[in-house]
Amino acid sequence: MKKKKMLITLLTITALAVAIALPRANAEEKKEPNQILITNVNIFDGNSETLIKGRDVLIEGNLIKKIGMIKAPKATVIDGGGRTLMPGMIDGHAHLMINAHFDTVEKNFDITDISYRAKVVSERFLLDGFTAVRDMGGPAFGLRRNIDAGLIHGPRVYPSGAFISQTSGHGDFRDRADAGFTIQSPGDLSNFERMGIGNVVNGVPEALAATRLNLRNGASQIKIMAGGGGSSRFDPIDTTQFSPDELKAIVGAAEDWNTYVAAHVFTDRAVNRLLDAGVKTMEHCFFVSEKTMQRMAKEGAYAVPQMWGISPDLARNPLMPADKIPMVKALGQKYKDVGRNFLKNGVKVVFASDYVGVFADAERARRYELWWRTKVFDSNFEVLKQLTSTAGEMLALSGPRNPYKAGKLGVIEEGAYADLLVVDGNPLEDITVIGGTDKWFDADPAYKLVPTIHLVMKDGNIYRNEIDGRLSPEAISYKEMRYEGIIASPGAPY
Ligand SMILES: [Zn+2]
Repeated sequence: MKKKKMLITLLTITALAVAIALPRANAEEKKEPNQILITNVNIFDGNSETLIKGRDVLIEGNLIKKIGMIKAPKATVIDGGGRTLMPGMIDGHAHLMINAHFDTVEKNFDITDISYRAKVVSERFLLDGFTAVRDMGGPAFGLRRNIDAGLIHGPRVYPSGAFISQTSGHGDFRDRADAGFTIQSPGDLSNFERMGIGNVVNGVPEALAATRLNLRNGASQIKIMAGGGGSSRFDPIDTTQFSPDELKAIVGAAEDWNTYVAAHVFTDRAVNRLLDAGVKTMEHCFFVSEKTMQRMAKEGAYAVPQMWGISPDLARNPLMPADKIPMVKALGQKYKDVGRNFLKNGVKVVFASDYVGVFADAERARRYELWWRTKVFDSNFEVLKQLTSTAGEMLALSGPRNPYKAGKLGVIEEGAYADLLVVDGNPLEDITVIGGTDKWFDADPAYKLVPTIHLVMKDGNIYRNEIDGRLSPEAISYKEMRYEGIIASPGAPY
């Protein structure tokens, strides 16, 4: 009985999918690329503080061809209906490959666990409006290849490869028993290292080898651990990691490949050491002085903080060890002005969710971050820039290692990639229309797409469409899969 019903549903969905597919330009029949015209939208272009009212946007192939009042008789027309058109969102510090609690990954996962879960994480990022992410640790190379090949759906991926850490550093996830008294004999590898999530190295030759291995594998940028962290067991948060020589070697090897280094870091001392070495993006970096912020601005370094890390709600996280809560509260209080200070001192800031997980917990953290950031920075416009134009600019630091060089990301302008959202409402005034929420730990555990995002386009293909239902052929396989089954499962299974 149940089987029969399922079969009928499947057939219906398949039939529907075929019926509503957008026409695909057949290269052999006609040479012209596919055109889609989105009419009557108010545009947030990634840079302007007000919406540009009542325009049409013509997409040709995977790029934005024209913006204005447009006649395009051959184009497939989508009526924007006065909604807002904005660039696809960008997460500057995401974890597609670390997709469960660290302990679970270290003790119980193999490469297939993280890979299958990465597929789900990727699909959900995309359908929630994120069209590009910088993956900050793990073997995301194959994930990127298969997303770009259309085999699975997800955002554009900027892979860092294995994050590089010193012994005792933030990326040294070996258990007490694993580490023993010798260093770096094969049996000492953590599961993180065996799966290519991290690489623990010491000294210039090993640091160079790890950097070059990532570059060889297709890293668009290098991620290092340059100071203590909150989630690791053996490195107190005040520690500075990697010697100046090691840092200079890593940065030099990255620069020889015409790209840059991103560093996990919190403290003023460590940020200054990273600036000395030429590191370009400072991840987290809450505990920095205004003087150091000025140095960051002058030297063109970006701040990529995940602001939930200093939110009062963090203390309510059920995973937070009780003895850490007073420290979290005190730090949150001490650094409550960090966002406003970054802006005051001219530092460019990029949006970062930095959350590990697959199911509702991860989406809730991301959406909470959207909302909380508007409080920290006192401005929806600033947060929207961090999510779009500034993030796109940071991704382009990867120069020739940028996997996506045909157009700009994070802006709506002629020649930019057609990575777009159509949103019901104005995110400059109301952050909830792109998913922002003040509910984190109280939220509904079942995953639901943000209902006010009505259309998601990446690379000229429509993956989600609640305006008229039509999807690009590239998105139909998703439609057939209908992963409600996955979505319905309550929370992370581990
Ligand atoms: Zn991270």
